[in-house]
Amino acid sequence: MRKAIRNLPAGHPMPFRGVNYPLEIRQSMNKPQVTITGGKLLVNFYQEHPTVPVQLPLVKWYRRQAQQYIMPRAAYWADEMGLTFNKIFIKDQDSRWGSCSSLKNLNFNWRIIMAPDGVIDYLLIHELAHLREMNHSPAFWQLVGRYDPDYKLHRQWLRDNGQALFLLLPKLPLALLNAVYFHVE
Ligand SMILES: [Zn+2]
Repeated sequence: MRKAIRNLPAGHPMPFRGVNYPLEIRQSMNKPQVTITGGKLLVNFYQEHPTVPVQLPLVKWYRRQAQQYIMPRAAYWADEMGLTFNKIFIKDQDSRWGSCSSLKNLNFNWRIIMAPDGVIDYLLIHELAHLREMNHSPAFWQLVGRYDPDYKLHRQWLRDNGQALFLLLPKLPLALLNAVYFHVE
C-alpha cells in the first residue's frame, strides 16, 4: 500500500467518466464541497480549515459518484443479462477492479468511475457474467461479448490506463478519510 500522499497541483487533469476536468482548488467560506462546475473539478475548502491533502475530499467525492452511478447501472445490466446478484460493494482496493463472490456479491473499485462509460459497462458485464461462469473460459468471454461487443477494446483500455488511475488517487488510511467532513453530492 502506498503511504505517501503526493499533493495534486491545481490544474491537474482529473478523469471522471472518461472526461478530464482540470482540478481547481478554492478556499472560501462557502460549504466545503466538491463539484464539477464550469468544466472544472472544484474542491472548495473552508478558509479557516486546517490544510488537508486535496486527495481526501476527492476520494470521498469519487466514491460517492461511483456508488450513485454503479448501483443502478449494475441493476440495469443484470436485468438485460437475466442474472440476479445479492449485494454490491464499492471498495477501495489496491489493484483489483472488481470481483464476484460465490455468495453472488459484486465488488467494484470506486476508481472505475474515472474510466469512460463503455469501460465501466464492460467491468459490470464482466463481473455479472461471473455469476454464470466462474472462470475466464471461452463460454465466459462469449457471454461478455454478447453484451459488450467491444469488450476487447475496453479490457485493453483498462490494461493501458488502469495503473495511472490507481496512482492518481492511491488508497488512503480510513482514519484520515473520516477526519474531515466534506459535502459531496
Ligand atoms: Zn473475471
